[in-house]
Amino acid sequence: MGSAPTKTHCPYCALQCGITLDVSQGVVELAPQSDFPTNRGGLCAKGWTAAELLNHPDRLTGPLVRDDRNSALRPATWNEALERIVANFQTIQHDHGRDAVGCFGGGGLTNEKAYQLGKFTRVALRSAAIDYNGRFCMSSAAAASNRSFGIDRGLPFPLADVAHADVVLIVGGNPADTLPPSMQFFDEGRARGTKHIVVDPRRTATARRAELHLQPVPGTDLALANGMLNVIVREGLIDSDYIADRTTGFDAVRRAVRLYWPDRVERITGVPEHDIVTAARMLAGAKRAMILTARGAEQHSSGTDTAQAFINLALALGLPGRPYSGFATLTGQGNGQGGREHGMKCDQLPGYRKLDDPAARAHVAQVWGINPADLPAPGQSAYEMLDGIGTPGGLRALWVLASNIVVSAPNALHLTEKLTELDFLVVSDIFLSETAALADVVLPTAQWAEESGTMTNLEGRVILRRAAVAAPDDVRTDLDVMADLAKRLGVQGFSAEPEEVFDELTRASAGGKSDYRGISYQRIADHDGVFWPCPSPSYADTPRMFVEDFPTPDRRARFHAVEQRATPELPDDEYPYYLTTGRLLRQYQSGTQTRRVPQLAEAEPEPVVEMHPTLAQRLGARAGDKVRLRTRRGEVVMTARTDTGIRPDTVFAPFHWGGAACINRLTNPELDPHSRMPSFKVCAVAVTRIEAADAPIEEGDLTHG
Ligand code: SF4
Repeated sequence: MGSAPTKTHCPYCALQCGITLDVSQGVVELAPQSDFPTNRGGLCAKGWTAAELLNHPDRLTGPLVRDDRNSALRPATWNEALERIVANFQTIQHDHGRDAVGCFGGGGLTNEKAYQLGKFTRVALRSAAIDYNGRFCMSSAAAASNRSFGIDRGLPFPLADVAHADVVLIVGGNPADTLPPSMQFFDEGRARGTKHIVVDPRRTATARRAELHLQPVPGTDLALANGMLNVIVREGLIDSDYIADRTTGFDAVRRAVRLYWPDRVERITGVPEHDIVTAARMLAGAKRAMILTARGAEQHSSGTDTAQAFINLALALGLPGRPYSGFATLTGQGNGQGGREHGMKCDQLPGYRKLDDPAARAHVAQVWGINPADLPAPGQSAYEMLDGIGTPGGLRALWVLASNIVVSAPNALHLTEKLTELDFLVVSDIFLSETAALADVVLPTAQWAEESGTMTNLEGRVILRRAAVAAPDDVRTDLDVMADLAKRLGVQGFSAEPEEVFDELTRASAGGKSDYRGISYQRIADHDGVFWPCPSPSYADTPRMFVEDFPTPDRRARFHAVEQRATPELPDDEYPYYLTTGRLLRQYQSGTQTRRVPQLAEAEPEPVVEMHPTLAQRLGARAGDKVRLRTRRGEVVMTARTDTGIRPDTVFAPFHWGGAACINRLTNPELDPHSRMPSFKVCAVAVTRIEAADAPIEEGDLTHG
């Protein structure tokens, strides 16, 4: 590695801000790239402090094993750890079948690792059991986009286009806190007159900057979208030519939204009729308009249909494919986009192919040098796979990479107990996360700045992370470990070299929906990334999609009529309020990394539950008091904070903490029938102030040692 600063990318979210790492003075100096298109010199507090992770004292620096369930983790050699994994996997598969051993990936893994993990599970283990935490993130928007557009790319246009729209509707997203440098594009737009409409039960930092803020009851966004479309249809504001020329299925949607009169939608959503009409007219009156959804709209048991309702709205206005217009969804995890393209989902093969498609199986099997018949059938989605542990035919051994299930999965206490029922658990991570603490074998893994690999950002832009520093001596990359394990299992053909794996990935993706065949490390390096689809080296990449047509069999986008359904849990006498969850500015996902960065931990040292002062008064609580949150699945204790910007019937809590403050112990695992997304964003909760004499919850010891 030379002394010139290395151009690379932040390890956290899907904006994948461009940074440089300068190690010439013996320390790692991190700076933003001033010319990278998604951050243009901006970074958030997480990005600025990311280098603190590299030499952190908590870093795992060698493998750990546990001799039996009652003993503590102890250091081991790589040979001992890997032999133990191979022996357990082989014994369990021999005794209980191939699908008794599975893998669980993460949306932070590079494209190469996501691809290789899918191949490892299906070729080296020959198991159907694989899914990843992106199932808990983007799956509803992906399902709706595939259904309507025939393809799923979060933003089908560059992020900078946001600045050129006249009206932007943001539903259930708070980029001011989750993608801070992206706000320069929103702010630039506002400076030239763009109107922003934000739909969120809370008056977030993004909502505070908006022209119009709609605060629906959690879980009623679908009715709101249908209500806006009702107005647009009745007032003759639809784009009839676009609908006739470029879409199918509008008549059924027109009939479905007839019953969503704004006054009825006001009764369902709590959004005033006047605001529904105003928002609909603002969108319809704009020459260039965008609709952006995010997890607030999507992480529901009706998340796919909710995203669909906003797609219907966008199609009726003729937005997708029009300049500086369209429907898009804001990705969260660093490689949330690439993670769902390369075969880490239980029903997918690389290139966004379907595992149950004979032609897809034949193509990928040929790249992998195996018989298509040897590829397993589709497996179960993330929650179903984990919930099946301990049941006949369920998982008995699991390898978890880059995912902290104990904190980030819904109904987390239940799933934590499930993990303890496994015969054998392996976790690869950089720190001893709450999930790694349960494992029988813990494998230390190289970090973002210690290995190269590609990520696909929220725009579908494939970017290159470059190694800038060496990993600790006894730490290995996940690719290296997969190659070694495959060899020990008697299977060849697994490279540990990222660029070789990427080239194989591009061949496996060729002809698929997410076609990377024309992308190479060199081509990425020569530009600011490459937008897929890019089917050949001579093909210009695709920053903007749907300009001419849609990748469906008839080249048209499909409307799909959807109806508001009651959320699985409505408040009642015992659980009288709505609980919704989300992210904070200075924390990331399960907090495994950000809770360990002193500057971030000091700024946000503990989870705080947000409630309206009216609700606090009803509870006899004040800001700073401890309150107990209780749902049908568990309870947690948090400090209360009051904010007049949240609905009085709703409390909000962040999900970045584990242990007794893990809010996912309370969330509802009811699944969306299409995407298998859990209902993270709404459940019924009881809230009580804790009296001084009331003992706080004791943290149970669920670890093995
Ligand atoms: Fe990193 Fe995301 Fe912050 Fe950019 S916005 S610095 S990618 S965490």
